[in-house]
Amino acid sequence: MKCDVCGAKIETTFLQKVLGTYIRNEKGKKKLVCSQCQKNGRIKELK
Ligand SMILES: [Zn+2]
Repeated sequence: MKCDVCGAKIETTFLQKVLGTYIRNEKGKKKLVCSQCQKNGRIKELK
């Protein structure tokens, strides 16, 4: 899995849970964002 904003690799836990957040953009597409991009507010760049 990788971040849809910065392209960084996102690790998954042994329960297959991603260490990031799924968000939906305006078109309803599911995007994965790493915690770093969340902190930086770069989620906006997906829209
Ligand atoms: Zn990122």
